[in-house]
Amino acid sequence: MPPHSKTYIHPSSGATLVPHLRQFLPHSLPLYRRLNHSFKTEDALILSTFPPPDPNAASHATPAELPRPHLLPQCFAAAFVDRSHRPATEMWLFLSGEVDGRCACARELGVRPTGDIVSEGQEDAQLGHTHVSDLDRAALESREPLLTPCASALLSLMKFVGTNVEWRPHTAERLEDVERAARLVDAMKKAADEQHPEAMKSHYPEHAFFLRDVHNPGVMKLGAVAALPSTILHLYGLLVMPPIRDLAHHMYVFRVPDGLPHGRELGRGLRWGKVREQDLDLVRIRSPIPKTHRTLKIWNSMSVYSTTDGTKESGQEHSSEAVAWAFLGYDGSLSSMHVEPEYRGKGIAKTLAAKLFREYPEEDGWALAYVGVGNRESEAVCEGIGGVSKAWVWWLRVNMDTVKTIDT
Ligand SMILES: [Zn+2]
Repeated sequence: MPPHSKTYIHPSSGATLVPHLRQFLPHSLPLYRRLNHSFKTEDALILSTFPPPDPNAASHATPAELPRPHLLPQCFAAAFVDRSHRPATEMWLFLSGEVDGRCACARELGVRPTGDIVSEGQEDAQLGHTHVSDLDRAALESREPLLTPCASALLSLMKFVGTNVEWRPHTAERLEDVERAARLVDAMKKAADEQHPEAMKSHYPEHAFFLRDVHNPGVMKLGAVAALPSTILHLYGLLVMPPIRDLAHHMYVFRVPDGLPHGRELGRGLRWGKVREQDLDLVRIRSPIPKTHRTLKIWNSMSVYSTTDGTKESGQEHSSEAVAWAFLGYDGSLSSMHVEPEYRGKGIAKTLAAKLFREYPEEDGWALAYVGVGNRESEAVCEGIGGVSKAWVWWLRVNMDTVKTIDT
């Protein structure tokens, strides 16, 4: 039996966890970026199954001495949790066993590794992606859960969240923002269905589903969860099915700036800018996943504007209209990218994504994007600017009532 895992709260700065996660980049990238993002509410909590350094001992240590990799347990879980911020993702997590070769937990559970890890400098090597073809429900359900050390760590952390982290209902202002996001998507869907009844149906199935649990404290949303933790949550009966996004997503990683193609000029009549407040409703209408005004205002962005020369009579020199845009989400991932139909096929999506990554570089040199496996158009955009799929990840819903009953 593996040793009993315990979960600890780390300081809200993330300073005691970030240096440890850094050595697991790019696998730890979603959690690493979320911890480093400047936006954290008072309810945000940083957890791991190893303790932060003793504050008394740490007072003698310089920050540079904090990361002590040899003291890290081989198997551990770490997470960022914020249950006050729906419909945004409530939890990001990292489980050390996601890293191929770190421990035997994935193999013992019958999970194929999440993806090949190539060492620095081998980024362009042909990757033999290990396909977690799906969470194979039938096979998993027939298997006895095996409490490996990674499973023990993850279950301890989930139970801690279930018993200690409070869920916050929305304020009236926030609720209005969420409901408006839903109304905008509904209006868009209705118009699209009327115009192209067949073409659009498959594109917009998830907005209502995405908002379904907004008022339900018994369900928690996890983002970008790798195959090993996804499988453990599933094996222990903690998932609400279906997941938020049932299909696996590629976790594409990029090297900034060296791995990106050289910046291209925009065509005539187009110029770069940041997404303006006045464009946010258009952005929300074009996104199949409801986004709140507040969230989009916080995220960094890049936009392409079409400029038209004004007339003297109008008193304006020119007017401009957003024709393409993209954001960087809370975990630094490329989000809500959109190119208006009449501007497609000109390479704008690739130029825009690369420009956005260059504009907001991180000192570790990584950038991140998620793309539904099989979404050829978006896969081509990411691969066209040097993106490499490192792993498959899922967006999951966890049953918090069941989590409380975990016997760790
Ligand atoms: Zn392990």
